[in-house]
Amino acid sequence: MRRTLFEPFKIKMVEPIRVTTPEFRQKILEQAGNNPFLLHSSDVLIDLLTDSGTGAMSDKQWAGIMIGDESYAGAKSWEHLESVVKELTGMPYVLPTHQGRAAERILYNILGGVGKVFISNTHFDTTRANIEFTGSTAIDIIYEESKDPELDLPFKGNIDIESLKQLITQYGRQKIGAVIITVTNNSAGGQPVSMRNVKDLREICNQHNLLLVIDGCRIAENAYFIKHREDGYAHKSYLDIAKEMLSLGDAFIMSAKKDGLVNTGGLLTLRDEALSVKCKNLLIISEGFTTYGGLAGRDMEALAIGLTEVFNEDYLHYRIRSTAYLGEHLKAKGVPVVWPIGGHAVYVDAGKLFPHIPIQEYPGQSLVCDLYTHGGIRSVEVGSVMFGKYDEDGQLIPAVNELVRLAIPRRVYTQSHIDYVLDVFDAILELRDQKRGYKIIYEPPFLRHFTARFEKC
Ligand SMILES: *Cc1c(COP(=O)(O)O)cnc(C)c1O
Repeated sequence: MRRTLFEPFKIKMVEPIRVTTPEFRQKILEQAGNNPFLLHSSDVLIDLLTDSGTGAMSDKQWAGIMIGDESYAGAKSWEHLESVVKELTGMPYVLPTHQGRAAERILYNILGGVGKVFISNTHFDTTRANIEFTGSTAIDIIYEESKDPELDLPFKGNIDIESLKQLITQYGRQKIGAVIITVTNNSAGGQPVSMRNVKDLREICNQHNLLLVIDGCRIAENAYFIKHREDGYAHKSYLDIAKEMLSLGDAFIMSAKKDGLVNTGGLLTLRDEALSVKCKNLLIISEGFTTYGGLAGRDMEALAIGLTEVFNEDYLHYRIRSTAYLGEHLKAKGVPVVWPIGGHAVYVDAGKLFPHIPIQEYPGQSLVCDLYTHGGIRSVEVGSVMFGKYDEDGQLIPAVNELVRLAIPRRVYTQSHIDYVLDVFDAILELRDQKRGYKIIYEPPFLRHFTARFEKC
């Protein structure tokens, strides 16, 4: 394992991190009901809550901010963005939105409705919510073996082609609103999708005349995995790999807060004119005119530049390898992690790390709290706090795994920050047997992980 990763950038502007003590953090966390979502970001040293909208822009993007054209219609910045996106997707109709979920709301409002079915490798939660809100059903199908957190497979994000064929027979094509392939598969650990899988998918969609949507906010990270893991792609550029994948889709949805390398923004691109007209009507009444959507001219300028930078070879190598660096070193220490490491985050199996803490006492929450008190690190529980339900007797129906996600913001932290995270894990491992669980003392009826309050058992 190589020790040093070269960060392919120099730092031109710095944002100070306020260094705090474990005693202070213990007190602050208790005040926040032992829920890191309720902390002030100024009390966090290393924020690994999400990679969404938390990246750093380049000097060229900041320069783009200054020359953003704020004209209402036909702005230069819009023309720049449109040309970059058309070139990338090969799709003629480009709709800008304020974030990914706005693009989802527009598209799935038109394609969805009561009785419709959407099939995906895994619907991201806002995707599922937007689909279900129209009265449609969202079905996830990944291969059984991809669900094993330890099995080393190259493309655990793939959609299960056999299950898809069965579902098409079961529901009939009239009922199917669209097939959605999420690359990388965010909710399933940021695992990549192979080109073969998308080609097979295209063929099935052709056979049954189904619409194929690519939810591709991490399309560049996915291209890295294809180049290094799939036969026949070693000599292609990341941009060409992404273009090839997008050429297989009928529609592309992107949260620009990920591989757009900007802090907010979204895109919806389409091949079909009639569908684009319907979408543009909704865009105008809810987001803005078709040449800015929900974005300022400067945002579009920065996004156009970000979409070019993200395919840079040195950047993508640094990006994927630095996420793997954290995961590989944790594994070497004996911390159980979901394997192989995905593109944007490392998932720690807290259920296995703290086997003495019963599931009802949320081992993931225990790790999330420890990471904060020991090191000021903010992470998120993706286990029974987030996905657990209650049965009729009020007993917890646990999630499949008790995971903690360490999401890596783009171009924000250096290797020494990540080494510091590893040091904090050392301290936690030393006291591993003494760690205790938590009980919930307050929870709202929906999405409880955001605002629930906890007490140590
Ligand atoms: C983040 C994300 C979205 C939603 O995008 P927002 O910009 O947060 O609204 C949709 N799909 C996937 C796969 C995502 O990761």
